[in-house]
Amino acid sequence: MGKLFVSGLSLTLFLIFFAGFVMGKENPEAKAARIHGAVLTIDTHSDTPLNLLREDFELGKKQDQAVTGTKVDLPRMKEGGLDAQFFAVFVGQGPRTPAGDVAGQKKALDILAAIRSSVAANSGQAEIALTPDDAYRLKGLGKRAIFIGLENGYALANDITMVRKFYDMGIRYITLCHTSNNDICDSSTDKKKGSEYHGLSSFGKEVVAEMNRTGMMIDVSHISDESFMDVIRLSKVPVIASHSCARALCDNPRNLTDQDLRALALNGGVIQMCFLSDYVKIPDPNPKRDSAMAVVRSKYNDFEGLTEEQFKQGRIEYRETSRKYPNKLATVQDMVNHIDHIVKVIGIDYVGIGTDFDGGGDLAGCRDVSQMENVTLELVKRGYSEEDIRKIWGGNFMRVFREVQKSATL
Ligand SMILES: [Zn+2]
Repeated sequence: MGKLFVSGLSLTLFLIFFAGFVMGKENPEAKAARIHGAVLTIDTHSDTPLNLLREDFELGKKQDQAVTGTKVDLPRMKEGGLDAQFFAVFVGQGPRTPAGDVAGQKKALDILAAIRSSVAANSGQAEIALTPDDAYRLKGLGKRAIFIGLENGYALANDITMVRKFYDMGIRYITLCHTSNNDICDSSTDKKKGSEYHGLSSFGKEVVAEMNRTGMMIDVSHISDESFMDVIRLSKVPVIASHSCARALCDNPRNLTDQDLRALALNGGVIQMCFLSDYVKIPDPNPKRDSAMAVVRSKYNDFEGLTEEQFKQGRIEYRETSRKYPNKLATVQDMVNHIDHIVKVIGIDYVGIGTDFDGGGDLAGCRDVSQMENVTLELVKRGYSEEDIRKIWGGNFMRVFREVQKSATL
């Protein structure tokens, strides 16, 4: 007994010494690099497919963000240790007419085809992924997993059967609306129409039920507070906010209030931090930029109802104007403040990352996907454990993804 006690004590002392030695040796950078490589990292929202329409862009070739303004390509994903990403099939809100519906749906199908062919052309670097297991399998192979989400339920073209059809085409979430109201629900940012349905329309309620049945994740980013509460009340499974932050830290209608966060936690869902500077931190006043950007926005009709050519030109002008009158970017630290806040309000199990790269996402310290490890470094510096970081980088989101797929009945 005495002997056993002594050896047990010396083993304990040895372990403490050993742990101290390891901890002493491992600086935050080394610890962040180790964790970042070990956990599955997923970004649930990028608008990279918009670049696939550019002639000077190739998904499989490394580009310099300072020169091209692009934030994501496969070599930079690898460099930044990002294992998986949701590419958004983004359809700007057009006229809510039968002809507008047809055009919106065609646009979605065209972008979907462009994603498929670009990924297929780079099959040595990436594959289309359809399930959480696909992402883990591809990480094991050293390949990037490209998931697909649809940003704007407008592309359903008021046809409920399209939910299942889009699912069969590989889409795994639908953002119910974009910056304007549509036939599904009110948007958080439609200044012209305001609240049209006080939440979901009757078609929107059907869409929520059909998404549940199909195993399609419901994305509540962009929708109004009333729409959010309707979705939470009706959805039988957890939902996602693919790219939104906390309104308590940055008062923007695109962000979720603390009340929303509590409802989201009860629902078992997840909120994915958006790297768009204006949603992370209220910008300092910059009237020159505001008026120059307002001119571009009004010239291009708030980027709604444009032809492909007009949209491309508008984006170029938007980028140039933004570069000419830069705003001081929010930082990675500012973004992690949102994670801290959400963890404080609802705990560690409901938060993740959804950058909105190539759709406005851009932070000092994380200008493009190659710099993703800086997020992990900041989390390490703030004392988040490896298990916490695993949840933030993908564990939480994948839990929701699995649950939604498992509950599908169609
Ligand atoms: Zn968006």
